[in-house]
Amino acid sequence: MDTSPKYALETLAVRAGQERSQFNEHSEALYLTSSFVFTTAAQAAARFSGEEEGNVYSRFTNPTVSAFQHRLAALEGAEACVATASGMSAILSLVMALCSSGDHIVASTGLFGATQQLLGTILPRFGIGTSFVAQTDVAAWQAAMRPETKLFFLETPSNPLTEIADIGALVTVAHAQGVLLAVDNCFCTPILQRPLDLGADLVVHSATKFLDGQGRVLGGAVAGPKRLTDEVFKFLRTAGPTLSAFNAWVLLKGLETLQIRLEAQSSRALQLALWLEKHPRVRRVYYPGLPSHPQFDLARRQQKSGGAIVSFVVDGARAEAWKVVDSCRLLSITANLGDTKTTLTHPASTTHARITPEQRAAAGIGEDLLRIAVGLEAVVDLQNDLDSGLSSI
Ligand SMILES: *Cc1c(COP(=O)(O)O)cnc(C)c1O
Repeated sequence: MDTSPKYALETLAVRAGQERSQFNEHSEALYLTSSFVFTTAAQAAARFSGEEEGNVYSRFTNPTVSAFQHRLAALEGAEACVATASGMSAILSLVMALCSSGDHIVASTGLFGATQQLLGTILPRFGIGTSFVAQTDVAAWQAAMRPETKLFFLETPSNPLTEIADIGALVTVAHAQGVLLAVDNCFCTPILQRPLDLGADLVVHSATKFLDGQGRVLGGAVAGPKRLTDEVFKFLRTAGPTLSAFNAWVLLKGLETLQIRLEAQSSRALQLALWLEKHPRVRRVYYPGLPSHPQFDLARRQQKSGGAIVSFVVDGARAEAWKVVDSCRLLSITANLGDTKTTLTHPASTTHARITPEQRAAAGIGEDLLRIAVGLEAVVDLQNDLDSGLSSI
């Protein structure tokens, strides 16, 4: 399909990337095959050398995975996209492709827990160091730059405190010194925010979250200009954290409902955030769609809505926070997010338990904090479920 910007995002989400086989299937075909057959020895040689385009082996390319890559690239307004087995393998592949031993990264303190682990403890063993700075402090990003800085890496809104980074301002700082800027766009998805339009060089996804949207499969992706995604692809085809064809097929179907899900989940999240803000047992609510959010104006400029993640501080400490969690009968106690089923997490003891207490304090994640990833249930049912726990503390 023609993926020119004349089509609206919801049209691209349903149509982009499909190439029909000789059977003219209406839904996208699922190619469950590890390798592909050549007509002659000469063709095999040409395919392996890259002289002739075409599929060779599903660690490199697979038509179902390619369809997902084209569809997500169209949604992000990217020239190209490379899919990976998970969000973490997308981030790992991006760094392995673009950084070498001796290079330096500047990243925000509020990153997803596993991303902090990767950048903060694993990559330094291979000579790639990261300086962590406050998400919202542009001057701190500038001050953390060194001659060997290669990459700015950020997530906005951040997990779980929904802090907003000013993508455009950070792009200006990064590009002034030839540094690339990558955004983890997991929380907003291209429906609510398109970082490449704001000047970012690359977008990273955990497709496990809203892109699937129904809690079924793991997946990830890196999108951006072909000259950069080609480097990611070179690492991926050799190292192997490739997206499976089956997961790509599930994700293609997930993308088709992305817009209606995100809009419905965001509107429920706003209603829930407004209700929580008035609840006597809630001390504070973090949600970019609330006027009380410190970067409310920036969020309004940069995102189409506040998104589906709401975090809040209960009146108490770990015991009270756990009491709210344990009183819920409807909300799922799970760390996943972006599902049609609403999930509830205590970040300090789960998603952010492996980072040090100092790192947690620096990121502002207290024992009294809970995170909700709002799904598609009726808001009144979510409120009643949360109220039973909140009212008992
Ligand atoms: C979940 C998540 C990841 C990691 O993705 P996986 O698919 O679980 O590997 C990265 N970034 C953010 C913001 C996430 O929420």
